[in-house]
Amino acid sequence: MQVHNTLGNKKEELIPEKKGLIRMYVCGPTVYGPAHIGHARTYIAFDVIRRYLEYKGYKVKLVINITDVHDDMIAEANKQNTTIFELGDRFTKQFFEDMKALHIKPASVYPRVTQEIDAIIETIKLLYDKGYAYETKDGVYYDISKFAEYGKLSGIKPSKSITGTRVKTDKYEKKKVQDFALWKKAKPNEPYWESPWGEGRPGWHIECSTMSSKYLGLPIDIHGGAVDLIFPHHENEIAQSEAAYDVKPFVKYWLHTGFLDIAGQKMSKSLGNFITVPELLAKYNARVFRFFIATKHYRSRIDFSEEAMKHAENTLARLNDFIQRLYEVELAGKSLAVEPILSKARQEFELAMDNDFNAPKAWSAIFALETEVNKLMNENKLTKSGALRVIEFLKEIDSIFAVLSFEKKMPDLNEEERRLIALRDKLRKEKRFEEADKIREQLASRGIILIDTPQGTKWRKAR
Ligand code: AMP
Ligand code: ZN
Repeated sequence: MQVHNTLGNKKEELIPEKKGLIRMYVCGPTVYGPAHIGHARTYIAFDVIRRYLEYKGYKVKLVINITDVHDDMIAEANKQNTTIFELGDRFTKQFFEDMKALHIKPASVYPRVTQEIDAIIETIKLLYDKGYAYETKDGVYYDISKFAEYGKLSGIKPSKSITGTRVKTDKYEKKKVQDFALWKKAKPNEPYWESPWGEGRPGWHIECSTMSSKYLGLPIDIHGGAVDLIFPHHENEIAQSEAAYDVKPFVKYWLHTGFLDIAGQKMSKSLGNFITVPELLAKYNARVFRFFIATKHYRSRIDFSEEAMKHAENTLARLNDFIQRLYEVELAGKSLAVEPILSKARQEFELAMDNDFNAPKAWSAIFALETEVNKLMNENKLTKSGALRVIEFLKEIDSIFAVLSFEKKMPDLNEEERRLIALRDKLRKEKRFEEADKIREQLASRGIILIDTPQGTKWRKAR
């Protein structure tokens, strides 16, 4: 399998550190509001990646952190006249509900910053003791000039500029603009924890270094997030983890999802085009949205629009009809005709997914299978056992995407149609065949085909 590694910007063979196990970390949400469809895009994309790795036989250990301490959380808690703790509880719960509604498999662990402060302080101490951090009047900062490889992920090298105030005020200001906070000293009325540098809270980046090391062990195999996190967040994670834990590389493969935009615009509250997951699900079926996302490449930018969703809805409905049609096949015999079609589809599907999870190409293999199997059905060459083999295959594929519906639908008749069938039965018993045949034709013109069997009259909907 090849994956595109942002570090080095090229495709590489995926070789996990421990055979058969993938240790994966995906940056989680800041829980001060409901998840939006951009979050949903990223978590669905990584859900598909995780499920494909499982399909390939790997065991996957996935960690997603919950950022429940953050400047934005404090601002929102103040606005709502509540605490970051209440706000965090509320939206963590809502995040889990949203992920479940989107059929996203739960992570193995969801560590929360408020419950990891001691471990985070330990990591900062390591950095401080090794000389990678310094204290100022408002916090503890990472000194990026001490980490020679700073910029290796994003290609953004630190500028030479210094803040300019350091020289005069010495230890009271940070040295370089890009030096980032590991610990922020508390201002009045801010939530705080005790630390060797006084009361305060962790900076944002340090939580991911701490939690990935604590819950997965280093190096981790796959680290994910959307492209917006490459700089500075992931660059800073590398600087922290590689310096604190003496491990290089801290992450073997960096995978980044493309952004989701809305009708060509960046989604933002100020533009009024912000769609939350509950708003999405009030309007669309979760599987349609998953299908919309899962048929795109995880790295591509996605444009969300009514038309694009309509298109996804139609294609998915067509696939679900195909499954229903397969259920209706009755022809006896072996499944020979379908076997080469299935193995070709599987081969092409895996080839595409093995190549950096190329889902659009993988789906074309499924659509080609649909066309060929439909042709077999039209020519009455697909047997029942063949149809069941196709259904089995589609179920396996759907263990990766979770978009299809396998529930066997019983097409239903309305009351009049039921009455007509009963009347025809009665007429046949009375040997009034001409009148009975009229009813058969009447129903056929409505697309209801009657089949007389020794067990009585059965019916199916014509296609
Ligand atoms: P946040 O809660 O903003 O820290 O984001 C949580 C995760 O969602 C991160 O991996 C982000 O990169 C990702 N994310 C945020 N906005 C979008 C978007 N519009 N499209 C795709 N992913 C996003
Ligand atoms: Zn992170």
